[in-house]
Amino acid sequence: MRRLVILGSTGSIGVQALEVVAAGDEHEVVALSADHRWEELIAQAKAHNVRRVAIADESSAEQARAAWDGAVLSGPEALAQLISGAEADLVCNAIVGSAGLAATVVALSEGIDLALANKESLVVGGELVIELAAATGARLLPVDSEHSALYQLIASEKGQAPGTIERLTLTASGGPFRGRSRDQLASVTVEEALNHPTWEMGGKISIDSATLMNKGLEVIEAHQLFGTEYSAIDVVVHPQSIIHSMISLSDGSSLAHMGYPDMRVPIAYALHWPERATVDLKPLDLEQLGSLTFEAVDNDAFPCLGLALAAGREGGTAPCVLNAANEVAVAAFLDHRCSFLQIASVIEATLDAVDIEQSYSFETLIESDRAAREAATEQLLAFS
Ligand code: NAD
Ligand code: MG
Repeated sequence: MRRLVILGSTGSIGVQALEVVAAGDEHEVVALSADHRWEELIAQAKAHNVRRVAIADESSAEQARAAWDGAVLSGPEALAQLISGAEADLVCNAIVGSAGLAATVVALSEGIDLALANKESLVVGGELVIELAAATGARLLPVDSEHSALYQLIASEKGQAPGTIERLTLTASGGPFRGRSRDQLASVTVEEALNHPTWEMGGKISIDSATLMNKGLEVIEAHQLFGTEYSAIDVVVHPQSIIHSMISLSDGSSLAHMGYPDMRVPIAYALHWPERATVDLKPLDLEQLGSLTFEAVDNDAFPCLGLALAAGREGGTAPCVLNAANEVAVAAFLDHRCSFLQIASVIEATLDAVDIEQSYSFETLIESDRAAREAATEQLLAFS
């Protein structure tokens, strides 16, 4: 039995991680965490026999303590205490946003293997995160579907000469607005943006998929995880989301990872590594699919991908600033305080306003995240 901590267990990935665990008998869930939805969290704790949880929101934590006799941690050190005290073999980080970085740092510092859904950890602090994993020997297992695919494809070429893998290709579904021009995106609504064609996900990543910022964050994530130059990472729109990623090799062959879009597959891979789990999914039926299609990204209609690539290439704290500005702008869009197209404008203006530093210390990243949030909030006021 592997002792597993799931952070962000009330979210889309967290709930599916619990489903994956319940489908097998190899994991004992020893701790859970959520932001504020304490009733769901306590129900999960009871269902999975968990006795320790952390809740970010203080008043939700108090309500949980009154209603449940298990340990409820809260306050700024809660996640660190939850992870450190769990004697865990594996932490699954399914928190959304840069709020997940601290938990990633704690788990890796303690040498605990990490199933990482929180791509923002790698966008904000990729160098720090990768160095920590290397220093402690903790394994970093990506949960993001494209990166899980790449991880498996790259592993299949282990032992080959350096340079054998020439290019990585990430696929993008294109989101709900694929094919629309910039003008047609001016008046799209929150409801339309949340309606993703192939994946069912949390609110923030759904909007990131609609702007294509998600793919930008994922290129940075791939660069950090696999040490691949930005010039060797391609993005192609593939509306069916059947091919999750591809690697191109020196002998002219390309290897693709395929499957129906279902996050339980990459979650199960990360939680069960190095073994393959059994996931209850119908086999891929190519005759029924008929055709797979591919197209180029429309960079004029979806400028967020280009902004992310530029920030990634600039390095230092630029991806951290990009990410924080995006989080602020997406929250404002979800709250009807800015338009869809203004998301990119807020990010661009924030990147212009905030000083970029070539340092990767945790303190620098936290300060850049804070400064970028402040600048993005000012930009939003200027736009309204
Ligand atoms: P979600 O919004 O559904 O869930 C987020 C979880 O994080 C919730 O449990 C919430 O309580 C918790 N949380 C939020 N803010 C917190 C804070 N400040 N402190 C502690 N906990 C906090 O999000 P999701 O769609 O499950 O995505 C989670 C992560 O996984 C994101 O980084 C996302 O990019 C990544 N991811 C998601 C999918 C998907 O299909 N949903 C796919 C690939 C990657
Ligand atoms: Mg993805």
